[in-house]
Amino acid sequence: MSDSVYRYDVIVIGAGHAGTEAAAAAARLGARTALLTTNVDTVGQMSCNPAIGGVAKGQIVREVDALGGLMGQAIDATGIQFRLLNRRKGPAMHSPRAQADKKAYQNEIKWRIEDQENLDLRQETVEGLWTEEHAEGRRVRGVRVRGGATYEAPCVVLTTGTFLQAIMHTGEQKTAGGRAGEGTTAGLSGTLRELGFEIERFKTGTPPRLSGRTIDWKQTERQPGDEQPQAFSFLTDSLPQTQMDCFITYTNDAVHDLIRANLHRAPMYSGQIDSAGPRYCPSIEDKVVRFADKNQHQLFLEPEGRQTHEVYVNGISTSLPRDVQDQIMRLIPGLEQAKIMRYGYAVEYDFCPPTQLWPHLEAKTVEGLFLAGQINGTTGYEEAAGQGLLAGANAALKCAGKSPYVPQRDEAYLGVLVDDLVTAGTDEPYRMFTSRAEYRLLLRQDNADRRLTERGYEVGLVDAARRQRLHDKLQQMQRAEQILRDGRIEDTPADRYLKRPEVRWAEIQAQIPELATIPAEAALQVEYDIKYAGYIGRQKQEVSKQQRLASRRIPTSFDYQGITPLRTEAKQKLSKVQPLTLAQARRISGITPADIALVMAHLEGGG
Ligand code: FAD
Repeated sequence: MSDSVYRYDVIVIGAGHAGTEAAAAAARLGARTALLTTNVDTVGQMSCNPAIGGVAKGQIVREVDALGGLMGQAIDATGIQFRLLNRRKGPAMHSPRAQADKKAYQNEIKWRIEDQENLDLRQETVEGLWTEEHAEGRRVRGVRVRGGATYEAPCVVLTTGTFLQAIMHTGEQKTAGGRAGEGTTAGLSGTLRELGFEIERFKTGTPPRLSGRTIDWKQTERQPGDEQPQAFSFLTDSLPQTQMDCFITYTNDAVHDLIRANLHRAPMYSGQIDSAGPRYCPSIEDKVVRFADKNQHQLFLEPEGRQTHEVYVNGISTSLPRDVQDQIMRLIPGLEQAKIMRYGYAVEYDFCPPTQLWPHLEAKTVEGLFLAGQINGTTGYEEAAGQGLLAGANAALKCAGKSPYVPQRDEAYLGVLVDDLVTAGTDEPYRMFTSRAEYRLLLRQDNADRRLTERGYEVGLVDAARRQRLHDKLQQMQRAEQILRDGRIEDTPADRYLKRPEVRWAEIQAQIPELATIPAEAALQVEYDIKYAGYIGRQKQEVSKQQRLASRRIPTSFDYQGITPLRTEAKQKLSKVQPLTLAQARRISGITPADIALVMAHLEGGG
C-alpha cells in the first residue's frame, strides 16, 4: 500500500447521474462519503440529450425527488423549457419533461454536491478495486487511484457509466473514450473480470450539434413549452424563468437515399460494431433500414442553453463519417447552411449484467461493492439517478448495520427498475417505459411524494422539512375530502358528483367556494383519488395477492439442484438469479407456475 491512505465509510466512483445521487444519498444518511471522479469539471454532465424526464423517466425523477434526491431541484433551477407530456391521456401517463441549460444544470449539481455535509468531491481516476477474502467470501476494502494513493472504505459504489473499455466510432474512425473529449477506463474492467464478474458490451450513439446561428428557423415549426409549467420537485413553488422554444424539422427521401448509399461506411453495418444498442432510440441509419417505407422522420432542434448557440438535433443519432453528416445537413429544410459544432458518434462500452446483483444493488460475490447506472446495462440519466440513489443509500445503511431499502414494484418505478434488472437482466440497453409497470395507476408522477417521502424519512434520506410539507398536503387533502362529503350539488353529495367523468374540480369549486382555499396540488390528489377509486381499488387487490407470494422468502443458500423433479433450465436460472422471494422467482423469464409449485413444496417441506 502507498503512503497516502484516505478513510471513508462509502466511496463512490464516478460523478455522473448515478454517482452524484449515490454520494449525496449516502452522505444524507450520515456516512462519511468520498465521490471520486476523473474530472470535477464534468460532474453531472449530460453526455447526450440536454433534457431531463419524458415518458416514464419523468416519473422516476419525481420519485428521486420524493426521496430527497438532487435531480428534480437541479432541473427546476436550470430548465429552459417545461412540458407535461401525454396531457390528454389519463393521469398514469402524464410525464414531465424539461429541456435543460446543460452547463447550468451541471453547475447546479456540482454546487449541491459541494454543499452537502459529510461529502468530499475529489478529482481522482480509480484504477482498481481493493478486495480481500474473508470467512464468507470476498469483500471490498477500498480502491486504488492513479498516482498511487489508496482510499479505504467498507462500501464502494461503482458508477462509471459508458467509460469502461470504451471505443467511440465516427465512420471508419475509432478513438478510445467514453464521451467526446474524454478518455476510457481500462483498469476497472480488468479488476472486475479478475473478481469473476461476467462482462458484456453495449453501444449507444449521439447526434451532431449545430450552431444555431447557421439554422434558418423560418423553415422549421416552433414548439413552445407549457403556458403553466409544472415543476419537477415537490419543494419548488414556482418556475419564474422565461422559457425557450424548441423547433421541428424533418428528414426526407434525399436524406434517406444518401444514408443508404453510405451504409457500408456506418460502423454498425460494416461490422465494426456488433454489440446491441437501444432499440427504442435507434440511429438514423437504423431508422432508414428498419422503417424503409417511411419517407420522413421528425427531428427536434433543442437549444443546449441560454449562453450558447449550440443546438442538439434530437432524432438523428449517427455514427456515419463526418463528410456524410455534413452532406445530410445540406438536404434538411432549415439546416441547408447549418454548421456542425460537434459530430455525432457511437460508443461501445463494457457493462456488468445486473443479475449479478442483489435487489439492493450489492454484488452477490463481493460484499460491500454496489453497482449503479449505465454499468448495469441501463441507459438514461433518470434510470442512472434512481439506481444511484438506492445504491448510495444501501451502502450507507450497510455501514450502519441496518437492513437495505428496496422499494417494491407496487411502490415505485424505482422498484420496477431494480427488480427487472436483477431478476431478468437485459439484452439491450434498458430504459424505463410505463408498460413495464403493472400498477401504473398507483405509480403516478403526481403522487410520488405520497408513495415515498414518509419511507424516505424513516430510512434517513428525507429531511424533516420535506416530510412536513407532505404532512401539510395530506391535511389539506383531508379537509378537502370533508368539504366534499358535506357539500351537495344538484341534490347529490359533492364527492359522488365529482366521480362523473365529465366533471372537473373547477366546476365543483365554482359551486362550493370553500374549496378555493385548498391548494391545487392537494386538490388534484383528491380529484384523482375519487375519480379513479374503482381502478385504484382493483390494483390494490392485485397488489395484496402478489404480496402473499412475496412474503414467501427463499433462503439465499437454497439448493435448487436438490429438487430432483425441477427442470434443468429452471435449476440453472433459479441458481443464477437466487431470487429472494417466490414472487421474484415467478418473474424470471422461462420459469413456469409448475416450477414455482415445486419450489414452494420444497420450501414447505423444509428442503
Ligand atoms: P455517466 O453519466 O457516464 O458518468 C460516469 C462518470 O464516471 C463520469 O463522470 C466519468 O468521468 C466517471 N468515471 C469513469 N471512469 C472513472 C474512473 N476510473 N475513476 C473515476 N471516475 C470515473 N441516454 C439516453 O437516455 N438516451 C440516449 O440517446 C443516450 N445516448 C448517449 C450517447 C452517448 C455518446 C453517451 C456517452 C451516452 C448516452 N446516453 C443516452 C446515456 C446517458 O449518458 C447515460 O445513461 C447516463 O449518463 C448514465 O449515467 P451514469 O451516472 O451511469 O454514467
